[in-house]
Amino acid sequence: MNPTSPPHAADLLTVVGARPQFIKSAALTRALPDVGWSQRLVHSGQHPDDAMGLDFLIELGVPAPDVQLRPNQASRSRRMADMLVGIEAEIRKANPRAVVVYGDTDSTLAGALAAHHCNVPLVHVEAGLRSGDRRMPEEHNRIMTDQLADWLFTTGPAATRQLINEGMREERIAEVGDVMLDVALAARPLLRDRHPPLWPGDGPVMLVTLHRPGLVDQSDLLKGALGAMGAWVSEVGGRIYFPVHPRTRRAMEEAGLKLPEGVVDPGPIGYLDMQAALHRADLVLTDSGGVQKEAWYQGTPAVVLRSTTEWKELLEMGACCLVDPSNLATPAGRNELLDKLETWRTVQVPSVQEAGLFGGGAAAASLLRTLTQRDLRP
Ligand code: UDP
Repeated sequence: MNPTSPPHAADLLTVVGARPQFIKSAALTRALPDVGWSQRLVHSGQHPDDAMGLDFLIELGVPAPDVQLRPNQASRSRRMADMLVGIEAEIRKANPRAVVVYGDTDSTLAGALAAHHCNVPLVHVEAGLRSGDRRMPEEHNRIMTDQLADWLFTTGPAATRQLINEGMREERIAEVGDVMLDVALAARPLLRDRHPPLWPGDGPVMLVTLHRPGLVDQSDLLKGALGAMGAWVSEVGGRIYFPVHPRTRRAMEEAGLKLPEGVVDPGPIGYLDMQAALHRADLVLTDSGGVQKEAWYQGTPAVVLRSTTEWKELLEMGACCLVDPSNLATPAGRNELLDKLETWRTVQVPSVQEAGLFGGGAAAASLLRTLTQRDLRP
C-alpha cells in the first residue's frame, strides 16, 4: 500500500446482485477469517427479489449484505447507471485493497466499471467462461469484465486456456476452481434429512428450472417445453418438481399457459432446499448455468435446454447433455427433448471426488491465498 493513502475500511469490497452471486460470495466470506481479511458486501439491487431464500446464508454462517442499493428499474441502462454510481460511492467510502465481482451479470459489469473508475484493483471470479453465444447479455458482461480485471480467477483449464488465447497475461490468471462447489460441499451435511417443500414422494422425479429470457419469453418455445414435460409425466409415470421463477410465471400468465398434470410448483425455494431437491431427483432439466453444475455436484444427470454451455467440462465428462430450445415449437423438437430425457434418466454421472475438477471444494481458500500473497496490481 502507498504510505500516503488512507487506511482501508475493508480489505475487499464485494458486489453481488443476483441469487447465484449471493451463493458464490458465501464461499469467500466463510474463508476470510483464515487470512484475517475483512469484507464489505454490497447488494447492487439488480434483482430486488433475489433476497428470497437467503436463509441459507444464516445456516452456512454467513452474514447478509452490509449495503443494499436500490437502483431505478425503469430500463437496463437506467439500472446500470444507478448501480455504477452507488457502487462507486461505496468503493470510495471503504477504500478497499480490491473489488471482487462474480460471474456475468449487469452487477458484475457495474462493479468492474466502478472499480476501474476508482482505480482500485479488480478481481473477477469465474473469469474466462464463454458460451460463444453473443445473443446472451451475460456473454458480453463476461468479456468486458475480463478485459477490466487485474486478477482473473478461473474454475478450470478450459477457462484458463480461453483467457490465454484471448491474449491475457498468464501472471494475472490463477486457476482455483469453482466457489459454488465449496458451498455445495459445505451444504451436504445439512441435506441428509431435508425434504424440499411439496416434494412429490413416489416414482421417478424430474427437477425442472427454466428462467432464461431466450426461452421463457418466447411463448411457442415455453409451450413446447411444458408440452414435453406433460408427455414425460404420462410416459414415465413420474412427477415433475418445478420451482417456477417469477419471470417464467409472468411469461406463462401472459401467454395463458398452465402447468401440465403431475407438475408440482413450490415457487422459488431456498438454496438448501434446492440442493436437497437436486440430490433427491432422478433427473434435472434446466436452462440455468448454476443448476447444471449443481446437478452434477449432487450426483444427478442433467439435460440442459441450451444450444451451448460455458461449462464444457460437464459435457466432456458426460454429466449433462444439451438440447437446443429453439426447436421446441415443432413436434420434432419436443420429441428430441423427450428422447434425451428418457435416455438421461438412467445415466450414471462420474463422481465429483474422482473427477478432481473445479478445485475439489477449496476454491475460495486458494483464491484468498493468491490474493494475500501477491501484489494486487500484477
Ligand atoms: N436456486 C435456488 N432456488 C431456486 C432456483 C435456483 O436457490 O428456486 C439457486 C440454484 O441452486 C443456483 C442458483 O440459484 O445455486 C442459480 O440461479 P439461477 O438458475 O437463477 O441463475 P443462473 O445460474 O442461470 O445464472
